Amino acid sequence: MKKRHKYIFVVGGVMSGVGKGITTASIGKILMARGLSVNPVKIDPYLNVDAGTMNPIEHGEVFVLDSGLECDQDMGNYERFLDITLPSLNYMTSGMVYRTVIARERALEYGGKCVEAVPHIPQEILKRLEASVKKSKADVTTIEVGGTVGEYQNILFIEAARILKLKNPGDVLFVMVSYLPVPSKLGEMKTKPTQYAIRTLNSYGVHPDIIVARSERPLDARRKEKIAESASINPDHIISAPDIDSIYDVPINFEKDGLSKTLLKLLSLKTKKDSDMRGWHDFVKRAHGVKKEVKIAVIGKYFKTGDFALSDAYISVLESLKHAGAKVGVKVVADWLDSEPYEENPKNLKELDNYAGILIPGGFGGRGIEGKISAIGYAREHKIPYFGLCYGMQLAVIEYSRNVLGIKDANTTEIDQKTKNPVVDIMPEQERNLKLGAYGGSMRLGAWPAVLLEGSRAKLAYGSSTISERHRHRYEINPSYVEALEKAGLVFSGMSPDKRLAEIIELPQKVHPFFLATQFHPEFKSSPLNPHPLFVEFIKAAANFKIAK
Ligand code: GLN
Repeated sequence: MKKRHKYIFVVGGVMSGVGKGITTASIGKILMARGLSVNPVKIDPYLNVDAGTMNPIEHGEVFVLDSGLECDQDMGNYERFLDITLPSLNYMTSGMVYRTVIARERALEYGGKCVEAVPHIPQEILKRLEASVKKSKADVTTIEVGGTVGEYQNILFIEAARILKLKNPGDVLFVMVSYLPVPSKLGEMKTKPTQYAIRTLNSYGVHPDIIVARSERPLDARRKEKIAESASINPDHIISAPDIDSIYDVPINFEKDGLSKTLLKLLSLKTKKDSDMRGWHDFVKRAHGVKKEVKIAVIGKYFKTGDFALSDAYISVLESLKHAGAKVGVKVVADWLDSEPYEENPKNLKELDNYAGILIPGGFGGRGIEGKISAIGYAREHKIPYFGLCYGMQLAVIEYSRNVLGIKDANTTEIDQKTKNPVVDIMPEQERNLKLGAYGGSMRLGAWPAVLLEGSRAKLAYGSSTISERHRHRYEINPSYVEALEKAGLVFSGMSPDKRLAEIIELPQKVHPFFLATQFHPEFKSSPLNPHPLFVEFIKAAANFKIAK
């Protein structure tokens, strides 16, 4: 008999931002540990066609797939937790779904019918889901529905899930991730908002099979019973998920509650394998066990934004630092430093003396740029390990051109369109996009190959001559300046196979303990079990760096 595919929908109750993505990734992890293959899908209910046009400080990091799709940061959580590479099919937004339906209507493909939100939108959602299931050949698909129950935006996705369950009895499960507040004046955990959320979900014709109860504290027996009774579910199906320090503990905690066993039982899935998460346990143990702290300055334009917003906007960078830290055996402490004070007074750069490494991540636009360039110069001259990502590489080339090559007005045309020395410049095809106002999905995106220079630090780190890394940018190092920069000592250690595009720059080890920057985003390809080699080398250099004071 053909094995029936199983589906686990993860929906949010009460409020968003309490860890639906990590819950979904962790469910995938514990099922994989049982020998099953898992296909994670993320649904975002907004009308944007992809996440590329959204401000990361407000909406979180824009993650990029090999395919070039710009998507939600949860896709990054899935890839990191499960060590898999996801295709575009595993991400959908309302914008994508509506766009397809409307295009089909324009092409007269509905045969003269009135095209309506129901049934045509759920039909398209299910079609996309089916395509992803087919391509994946997995045993189980997890589908995380963005937002919370009760919002207008995700109703049609939940309706699609209801229909799927109706057509596949026994094969579809609903997990609701809820939140139980502990109001400080009361000091007591309240279940009422969760009860309302369950009732709202019920009104859609959907019943939660499992409730993940997020809260500051663990759920006690009394509250478990209360929710169980009001939701008419077995108390064993309510999982207590209190706040914890590390997201990587979540799958381990789920297993302590026997969640994979419950999921297998509810889905009538048989597997002979006991849960095997040895590698994961090792990583978590190592990450918790490290004592020596290594302080890294992450420099950007962080005007009026809290630490919380920033750690979401740069989640892949922060996680990659943690992966590398666990590998090297140090605890990485990342501080957000604003580059604008360096523009106001160069003396402010002195604060960088307190750090064992400086990282400049990706970015766009002009604010804080001169400050970032000064910080790079400071790292170069004071031999503080420096790692630049995307904009962090373009700005390093500007710094080198100005201060080593002596081209004082070197700049990027992103900032100064009329500069006489565009060492970083826009490519003709990108210029056309901007003229047409075609901003969405039009940068150099996704996986591109690069060839590494023999004997370079990059080649040594990767251990292979060709690599594939993910990009997201419009501007490139201007090839007309490469020869002069090389003569001045900058090493172009990674180039596109046609040698047209610069992908990695570095300074030789005898000149600087670690000065390396990439045009791509290595942070999109690091995971706990496979930390990215360049992050590892950077953290190694930082761990060996002696802070002057
Ligand atoms: N703003 C730069 C560009 O568009 C860098 C982008 C980035 O850092 N992701 O090329």
